[in-house]
Amino acid sequence: MAPLTGGCLCGRLRYGVRRVQSAYWCHCTMCRRVSGAGALPWATVMRQDFAFTQGTPATYASSPGVVRAFCGTCGSPILFDMAAEAAVDVTLGTLDDPDAVRPDHHIWAETALQMSAGLGAGLPRHAAERPAEPE
Ligand SMILES: [Zn+2]
Ligand SMILES: [Zn+2]
Repeated sequence: MAPLTGGCLCGRLRYGVRRVQSAYWCHCTMCRRVSGAGALPWATVMRQDFAFTQGTPATYASSPGVVRAFCGTCGSPILFDMAAEAAVDVTLGTLDDPDAVRPDHHIWAETALQMSAGLGAGLPRHAAERPAEPE
């Protein structure tokens, strides 16, 4: 499928990404808990441009209509899937080449930790979700 490939820590889950739409740092409290990290970088990918190529993920419904998919063996978070959206979000850190994708903004900056202040410096910081593009 894929120009981009990735997988979990133990190698049980593998996936492919055909094309990344955008990428961002999320500072929300849920991503913090999910990852154990101060902030989590994500790539937004159209649903049809993402596929698991090996293994079946475990899932957790973190909010109504939202499923987070992760490896049931090693715990690596892989996917944020909001049923109402045409796109899904993939954890940048599980790509085989994370530097192939550059985050270009921050969301939930209002809950960013002090330790994350220098992260992605100079990129636009949205207090909560990214405002919709003007039509
Ligand atoms: Zn794993
Ligand atoms: Zn988040």
